[in-house]
Amino acid sequence: MAEQEKKRIKLPETDEGTVLFNVPFPTDLKDLKGMAPIIIKQPYHIDYIHSYGQDSPFFAGLANGKLLGTRCGPCKYTYGTPRLHCMYCGGECDWVELPKEAAVHTFTVCHYGSEEFLKETPFVLILVEWPGVDTLFLARLMGVDPAKPSLDWVGMKVRAQFKRLSKFKPTDIYFVPA
Ligand SMILES: [Zn+2]
Repeated sequence: MAEQEKKRIKLPETDEGTVLFNVPFPTDLKDLKGMAPIIIKQPYHIDYIHSYGQDSPFFAGLANGKLLGTRCGPCKYTYGTPRLHCMYCGGECDWVELPKEAAVHTFTVCHYGSEEFLKETPFVLILVEWPGVDTLFLARLMGVDPAKPSLDWVGMKVRAQFKRLSKFKPTDIYFVPA
């Protein structure tokens, strides 16, 4: 085949994403070992299909302003954080609505968090307790000053509030001082 007849094979160039022009490059390859790391920022998004499975009623409850726990049919052990089978007897649990009034069992002030919550730091997490409920429930406590944590918060009466626009996340529910 003659030189001029050769078709150039080339992937199309695009300009979305990260484009860096004129990347510095040393003439001596030995200098590459002293090169500062390239650090870029780029958006990252995926659509993720996720099944709530047997936890679905819990999130349906949040969307309707109800906090649901479960109670074991055979042994009556009651879960503030729901589970569909009892960890003691293996029996099947039934859904029960938990009272909106509760008490703080314990708390922590978070000065660091995962990427999603980092911008909200510092914030207060509590473990919520109810009389007659055997396990605790983790939630955010709003309406207190994270800069002034107090042991008086332990045992404090709190009330559940729900986001009006449910995002089907555990953060759809939070507590405030009652
Ligand atoms: Zn049980």
